[in-house]
Amino acid sequence: DVKREEEDEVIEEEKIPSRVSYNIVFVTAEAAPYSKTGGLGDVCGSLPVVLAGRGHRVMVVSPRYLNCTSADKNFAGAFDLDRRIKVHCFEGEQEVAFFHEYKNGVDWVFVDHPSYHRPGNPYGDSHGAFGDNQFRFTLLCHAACEAPLVLPLGGILASKYRPYGTYKDTRSILVIHNLGHQGVEPAVTYKNLGLPQEWYGALEWVFPTWARTHALDPGEAVNILKGAIVTADRILTVSKGYAWEITTVEGGYGLNELLSSRRIVLNGIVNGIDVSEWDPSSDKHIGFHYSADDLSGKAQCKTALQKELGLPIRPECPLIGFIGRLDYQKGIDLIRWGIPELMEDDVQFVMLGSGDPLYEDWMRTAETTYRDKFRGWVGFNVPISHRITAGCDILLMPSRYEPCGLNQLYAMRYGTVPVVHATGGLRDTVENFSPYAGDGNSEGTGWTFSPLAKDRMLEALRTAIMSYRDHKSIWEALMRRGMLRDSTWETAAIQYEQVFEWACIDPP
Ligand code: ADP
Repeated sequence: DVKREEEDEVIEEEKIPSRVSYNIVFVTAEAAPYSKTGGLGDVCGSLPVVLAGRGHRVMVVSPRYLNCTSADKNFAGAFDLDRRIKVHCFEGEQEVAFFHEYKNGVDWVFVDHPSYHRPGNPYGDSHGAFGDNQFRFTLLCHAACEAPLVLPLGGILASKYRPYGTYKDTRSILVIHNLGHQGVEPAVTYKNLGLPQEWYGALEWVFPTWARTHALDPGEAVNILKGAIVTADRILTVSKGYAWEITTVEGGYGLNELLSSRRIVLNGIVNGIDVSEWDPSSDKHIGFHYSADDLSGKAQCKTALQKELGLPIRPECPLIGFIGRLDYQKGIDLIRWGIPELMEDDVQFVMLGSGDPLYEDWMRTAETTYRDKFRGWVGFNVPISHRITAGCDILLMPSRYEPCGLNQLYAMRYGTVPVVHATGGLRDTVENFSPYAGDGNSEGTGWTFSPLAKDRMLEALRTAIMSYRDHKSIWEALMRRGMLRDSTWETAAIQYEQVFEWACIDPP
């Protein structure tokens, strides 16, 4: 624990450039703009670029999804490296190819296999998750381990590692983006993974009663994430708050005790954001630009959004937004429950999201019920997400849990005030409004509410709405503080470098 405290201190205080240049390989199921369903895609599309800019050699390995919603056109710049390898798993040999694009200083490597060429999103389609996801992502992991050794990309990694024994000096860092997704499958599938039998214990998992689903028999299972937690040299999550929460019974999804036992190597680093893609003074998706010095363009963005959505054009009416996966994690049930009450107030509300068909249907119905006040945009649409972020006054995020959360960071940068459940990364990044602090000039960047309850959420929203309506200068100060907040990847990248350094100093 003493060591952990020392590390935390360093993470916060020391901001010197990296002394060492690392060879870093990201292995990820998504990387924007090639593929993205959520924050993982954003992070793996931008953190590698920033690390490369700081002098590291960076490779990102992820699948080459074709026919996938909004993904295939993104692979147009990646070409076949003409290097086939055979991966031994699932009781056979699977041939994969590698595609490659060198962009923004990063080697983007895409593992190619027919199982990645399916309509839907990277993980499933309208019928649910793909039944062979264990196969698809086992393949990714094996191919990723081979990629630095077999690909002709300057040979730095190969020449560095081969003379000393493959990956002998390499350290693995597991970054947990969401503990809710663990990769649990029946125990008999262990033989498919291509791992030595003696490692079974690392993945062995007895299903807790609460986690039993129709798909799996109770009892023995293999848990891929558990295997990674057991074997990784370092474990990171995407905020300090979430790093703590996953060690608790409430937030640990059955892995809390294991994570607690590895606390000495567990840390949290809040995600940064791509400040060139998300910049209200130059955003290509919005019609009017603005900055903390001149907010006038924001009002025009609001009018344009109301017009685009077919809502009454009313500059003074508070416009509230929600963007995200329609998932229990996002507290979408709370919004559905709270909307009838909220719609009695003079407000407008727009939601953009896709996911659970139950909530997609509800959004469509709510649109007809509250014709002049509510819009529900079902789908995944990046340009619209930018216009909602710019045009709204308030962004609501009642997430049940939130490892980091990116939309509140985008919102603050766009002068859109977040109202969030005080959990994980939301609590770490949104500073609760305090009217008399800061020598009476107020402090804070939004509202956090707790516990997670419809009434608490509505109270926080109504306080925000009242402040928006009645206290213009206080509101503008709130907006500006959010806009000027440091959410750059540089800060996070420095913290990542420190973790690399500690991992390399310690023996594996
Ligand atoms: P998570 O990773 O749990 O989905 P995050 O807040 O970390 O949540 O990241 C979500 C990312 O996905 C953000 O970039 C957000 O704008 C984007 N996103 C989510 N839903 C949609 C949607 N329907 N259309 C466009 N972008 C979306």
